[in-house]
Amino acid sequence: MKKGLVIAIDGPSGAGKSTISKILAKRLNYIYIDTGAMYRAVALSTLEKNISIDDEDRLLQMCLEIDISFSMGNGSSRVLLNGKDVTEAIRSSSVSLLASGVSAKKVVRDALLRVQRKMGEDGGVVIEGRDIGTVVFPDADIKFYLDALSEERGKRRHRELIAKGEKVSLDTVTREIIQRDRNDSSRKYAPLKPAIDSINIDSTDRTIEEVVEKFLEIIRGIKKRWKK
Ligand code: C5P
Repeated sequence: MKKGLVIAIDGPSGAGKSTISKILAKRLNYIYIDTGAMYRAVALSTLEKNISIDDEDRLLQMCLEIDISFSMGNGSSRVLLNGKDVTEAIRSSSVSLLASGVSAKKVVRDALLRVQRKMGEDGGVVIEGRDIGTVVFPDADIKFYLDALSEERGKRRHRELIAKGEKVSLDTVTREIIQRDRNDSSRKYAPLKPAIDSINIDSTDRTIEEVVEKFLEIIRGIKKRWKK
């Protein structure tokens, strides 16, 4: 018996997926799964182990040995890499770019795909990423594609980094976001794109609360049908 719906949320960087997914998971009492954090953790691990992302043999070996998990701590969701809390370490600009490179590798995608499917198989999850509605859960109960103009996404990510004490210019952050989207959309395996049956939402001129309300309106409608 499924514990609830599988809600897939895809979209480019900075569209608001994480913010919205966390709020939705809390309101629905669902589990939140951040698949981007998993690719980031793999990227951090390659740095720590000094593995080139083009060295497919070592990459595969690392993916077989790696343990990525989520836990709740200090009232927020924490990311653990082999038991060590890497929640902050995986958010730097260098790890972001490397994650985009690592995520284009089939060995990495195959390894994480299995873990992600396992995490979501019982339902009752809000799972966000780039390929959730297209590859990970093509039969998800609801698929959203959340987007926003790249200028706005750059501004949001820049605010986040500045708040964390990183000294980067808005221009650099926006350029990196556009570069990352280009990598993610043009890669061979599981590229970023809306699923054919996804509900597309633009967050550019909307407040967080407005976007959450829009999502909830749709989810409530589908939940009613699901219960019948
Ligand atoms: O969402 P976030 O920005 O944390 O994701 C980091 C990177 O991980 C993305 O730029 C993308 O390359 C990759 N990713 C992916 N597939 C997912 C989630 C993230 O390729 N489902």
